[in-house]
Amino acid sequence: MPDTSTSRVSHEHWVKVLLLGGSGEARELAELLTGEPGIDVVSSLAGRLRNPRLPDGEVRVGGFGGAEGLRNWLHENLIDALVVATHPFAARMTSNAIDAATALGLPYVILRRPPWLPGPDDHWSPVESMAAAAAAIPEFGDRVFLTVGRQGVDVFAEVGAWFLIRAIDRPSRALPPRHELLLERGPFSVEHELALLENHGIDVLVTKNSGGDQTVAKLAAARMCGLPVIVVDRPDLGVSAAVVDTVDGVVNWLRVVRGSASA
Ligand code: NAP
Repeated sequence: MPDTSTSRVSHEHWVKVLLLGGSGEARELAELLTGEPGIDVVSSLAGRLRNPRLPDGEVRVGGFGGAEGLRNWLHENLIDALVVATHPFAARMTSNAIDAATALGLPYVILRRPPWLPGPDDHWSPVESMAAAAAAIPEFGDRVFLTVGRQGVDVFAEVGAWFLIRAIDRPSRALPPRHELLLERGPFSVEHELALLENHGIDVLVTKNSGGDQTVAKLAAARMCGLPVIVVDRPDLGVSAAVVDTVDGVVNWLRVVRGSASA
């Protein structure tokens, strides 16, 4: 939290911001905004991880109870602006945030890091959903490196291939009959990823198109091994106007919001 005892004096209108987190960029933003005069930030986490990396400053944890619950929370907590910096696959939270902010007439911005793009030496098969990824696996081989996180692994439970499943926490849903679980959290190096592919005789990598640098090394490793990659496309946000793709873009946006509040 900023030292409000002194800095509030020079900012007649403080802007209170809810920062919907769950991504590295959200943590980066929380750290940057902690030193930003005229802006108070509350970060929000869904509470999925047993041992989350907490952002700087004030943090709340847990769902709001849908778009209506979020709307009430924003109103009761006198929030002036909403920043949606969730993971690109957190579609429900993003849609709830847009609905709640629109209903209250609150300014909002969505931070989405750019997606990964294939290079000429990549062998990517883009698919629209996790179910489509599961259906596509048999055409690529029998040994799969599954890196889609803990949620949604049950979609692969009926696939007969062998899986190396990587997640931060142990999945609680059904898993494929033949698998090994690898619990680890990024960032990962290319050497680390190459060793996994080689030591487990992997035929195909399955990933979401998360973007960012924390988990991108697996794509470089797959490229170096000439392996196919099934890439699940991002869910469509349904909006484009309020989207920025950098942390600095959000900070600049908030400065404009703060400027209008004090104008
Ligand atoms: P989701 O499907 O969009 O959201 C499901 C529900 O979880 C929301 O309706 C909301 O509950 C709650 N929720 C999600 N994000 C929240 C937040 N930041 N603060 C408070 N409540 C939140 O999201 P998800 O895919 O389950 O992801 C959950 C969290 O993990 C997100 O914060 C996301 O950034 C992070 N994450 C997701 C992925 C992924 O691949 N999906 C990967 C890495 C990190 P209510 O309706 O009750 O408000």
